[in-house]
Amino acid sequence: MSTDLNLAKELFSRYEVYKEAALTHRRFKHIDILPLINKLKEASVFTVTQAGSSEQGREIYLFKLGAGSIKAFLWSQMHGDESTATMALFDIFNFFAANDKFDDFKKNILDRLTIYIIPMLNPDGAELFQRRNFYDIDINRDAIKQQSAEGRILKSVFDSIKPDFGFNLHDQNGRYSVGQTSSVAAISVLAPAFNHAKEINPVRERAMKLIGSINDALSCFVPGNIAKYSDEFEPRAFGDNFQKWGMSAVLIESGGMKNDPEKQYLRKLNFTAILSAFGSIASSSYEDTSLSVYEQIPFNDKLIYNTVLRNLKLKTNGGYILIDIAFNINEVNSGGNSAYYGSGSIEEIGDLSGFYGIEDLDLSGMEIAPGRVYPNSLSSEEEIENLKFNELYSEGYIFISLNDSLAKAFEGKYTKYPINIILTSDPKQFITPIKTENRPDFVIKQGDIVKYVCINGYLCNITEHIGGIRNGAIVR
Ligand SMILES: [Zn+2]
Repeated sequence: MSTDLNLAKELFSRYEVYKEAALTHRRFKHIDILPLINKLKEASVFTVTQAGSSEQGREIYLFKLGAGSIKAFLWSQMHGDESTATMALFDIFNFFAANDKFDDFKKNILDRLTIYIIPMLNPDGAELFQRRNFYDIDINRDAIKQQSAEGRILKSVFDSIKPDFGFNLHDQNGRYSVGQTSSVAAISVLAPAFNHAKEINPVRERAMKLIGSINDALSCFVPGNIAKYSDEFEPRAFGDNFQKWGMSAVLIESGGMKNDPEKQYLRKLNFTAILSAFGSIASSSYEDTSLSVYEQIPFNDKLIYNTVLRNLKLKTNGGYILIDIAFNINEVNSGGNSAYYGSGSIEEIGDLSGFYGIEDLDLSGMEIAPGRVYPNSLSSEEEIENLKFNELYSEGYIFISLNDSLAKAFEGKYTKYPINIILTSDPKQFITPIKTENRPDFVIKQGDIVKYVCINGYLCNITEHIGGIRNGAIVR
């Protein structure tokens, strides 16, 4: 056990050497990985073949490495907007292509295992950064009916390999909690059930023990941030069926982490987890892991919001009441490039004990109030750019209005500027009520002094200059 842990620490500390520098954010496309695949084809450690093509004709590749009798099969990004593990797989390819002090570790793995890897099973979904394939089929509900080109590729590779172990690599919502705690689930794992009774046979038990060893390897980096995905049997899903068909299936879900919007830390955890797992399969050390390690990993729960603010005074007709407020920011794809914008939403108002924010602040003594509209209507982009936003915020201004000719230039739903833009006919009368499902647009004051502004769900401490506003909203 301790040698496995030391190895995980060493892999983790040497990670930067192998990190694929061409992949820097989550929204890369098929075209971005093609040159990497072409370069890796030249490394003698891999055999790279085309496993098939997506519905739109994008090549789906299969990497093979090692010559051992134990067969492991990994695939990533079957859901097109779940790309964290794909980044880690390219880091892992670089790891195996290098010659260095890990040579003995690699040789042991490649002598004992034959490893098959499909990076990016759903390139058409990745192109649009959407979950489903080109025909809007969820590939992970197509294990039986086999109506998606990508699902057929996955099944046919599985049939030809007959793997002993499989790694089904996904991303989950970044707001799951680890059980009933305030900790966000950075990584969630599962040995999927193969029937509704959730029975444990030797195939599933092997997966559970391997997950136990992965948990032990990761727990020193993210103590308390590892959870278990729901184990309800899904008869249409690949992991569940592969488990039924004799492969010990391990699901790894990359979740959320504070200050890791592009999931680069989670990518590093994937790198460490997968290589550690190869090591413990090669040495059989996972067999010594108690089943209780797996059983004691808490399930995902839904107690977390992006932001929770507590004990705020809210003015009412009769005086003041005290509220907690919870809000999220969801990402919305914006066009054919890699861009997205944030769209905030108030989720809950009232007593939020038992719920937690990734950002969670007790603001006792402060008052929440609607923000104001800057009184001067602006007539050019230059005028907007020259605004001293922090001075506006300190006056409680979180909306600006534009004159008619400039307004035409502001189509769409968001603005790159760190303020909301109002295009209504009577902006001076504009107000956003602080209510659930509305955008989180408000100010927080201590006495008469504005301490925070919240614009489209982005909270900014204006006296200490903490927090940034990625984008404002266009309000009609
Ligand atoms: Zn998924």
